[in-house]
Amino acid sequence: MKKKILIFGSLFLFIVLASLIVINPETIQGRFRRISRTTATQKVKTFSQPVDQKFDTMPIPSNLGLNLFDKDGRISDTARSFGKMSSLKLNKLTEIHPEDYGNNYYSPGTYVVEKGDGIGNGIFLIKFMEFKNKSSLNAQIRTEVFKKEKDGNYYHFPTNEYTLSMPNANQLFDINIELLDRADYLELPSDQIKIIYHQSCQTFIDYCDDETHQMYAWEDTTQCNKRCPFTANTDQYQAKNGKYSTIFPEGSEELADTVVDILKQCDENTEDFLKIKLEKPRLGVQMLLGSDNPTMTGLDEYISGQGASSWFEYFGGFSNQWKEQAKTTKCPNVLELGHELIHVYVKDFFGTEEQNIYGLEEGLANFARYQNGVDSEIICRPDGWSYTYNPETTNPYVTDISGPPNANEPYYYFYHTGYCFWHDFVNEYSYGNLTKVMQALYQQVRDIKSYYVLDVIEHTIGEKLSQEILDRYSLEKNQTFVDVCKGCEIF
Ligand SMILES: [Zn+2]
Repeated sequence: MKKKILIFGSLFLFIVLASLIVINPETIQGRFRRISRTTATQKVKTFSQPVDQKFDTMPIPSNLGLNLFDKDGRISDTARSFGKMSSLKLNKLTEIHPEDYGNNYYSPGTYVVEKGDGIGNGIFLIKFMEFKNKSSLNAQIRTEVFKKEKDGNYYHFPTNEYTLSMPNANQLFDINIELLDRADYLELPSDQIKIIYHQSCQTFIDYCDDETHQMYAWEDTTQCNKRCPFTANTDQYQAKNGKYSTIFPEGSEELADTVVDILKQCDENTEDFLKIKLEKPRLGVQMLLGSDNPTMTGLDEYISGQGASSWFEYFGGFSNQWKEQAKTTKCPNVLELGHELIHVYVKDFFGTEEQNIYGLEEGLANFARYQNGVDSEIICRPDGWSYTYNPETTNPYVTDISGPPNANEPYYYFYHTGYCFWHDFVNEYSYGNLTKVMQALYQQVRDIKSYYVLDVIEHTIGEKLSQEILDRYSLEKNQTFVDVCKGCEIF
């Protein structure tokens, strides 16, 4: 599902933003060599129905008689400290062996692949699960990602950037895969596709600069700036701080240096707030020169944004101000990092691009952003939400929190409804239980079984969610279904 928020070129210190997930057409020239195939042994398990998950949990008493929130409506430090109580004994993950299924390739090359085959780097293994519209211009491969964990087994790894499109190249967990063009497809049987596993991302082409005038970005110039997210082009500058990096257009060196430190600070606070440790080896910010409408998107391994050159010129002078803000808040409101990092963390918890519980994810992103220091603009009431600057007007909560937005319920209604849901959840069940729910969901997405978020919440708190909250947010179990790993029954 597309997530969109617009950055209004504001003279205020904060930026309201837009995020837009776009599939950027890109391609590369590559040589082809045919690989002989071996027959895979098929092992089939079926999980036709969502598995009823039982966590071994010890319910945390609600609120413990404390006032959870301080005068600004933020969870107080005392209440936050109870998050540490929330150890959760999780069910064992399903052991799967994606490495034993299909043909898996661990070194760069050009390969003919079919469903069940994979490309890996020894830690992550990307499996090709489904070929869609192979004979058309919209050919795509749907993938699932697995990661080898400490016990030596591969488990499902949360990601929802799982679709490779043609002509396109995708970099995920340092694995660079390109789909070749249509002519190459058509010479192969219908169940096979030719791909290139590239050594590095450096060869990706920006098609808007292509001298052949093959404008794969068509009329949409916002798609013209796809670059390698962790390798600076000659017209870009990269700043690094441990596993964190930022890439900005040249001329914005000071901003890049400032933002990489703020990214680290915000990430550490996001981890502390959610009490989840991501197993991602790197995290970046990539800011590109783009159209007049700056957008920010939280992707799997990095936060991406773009803005017109005037935007970079304007914000070029903000480094010192941002550094000062970083001293006084857990995560200053810079490039919406506090919001977008939540997407990086909880990508799969609330479903995939195709089917996602829009309001719960966006609402959590805004709730965490607020708890980590950005001013809130929302008042939550029993019958709806209001803007703090217009408290007389109460707007209704959305009727289906899973979305999508519609004419009567624009996208921001989902952000504010979801924000109030998580606010009420913490108010009713404590912050400790919020962190337990996050840990339980993180465990769920590393497994391969489908689930209902509402089930996970109720198992974790050890009771039914109150009827008052269910009614207020029109929450129904079937809106919260997550099919976490499609096609995984083959393992
Ligand atoms: Zn968002």
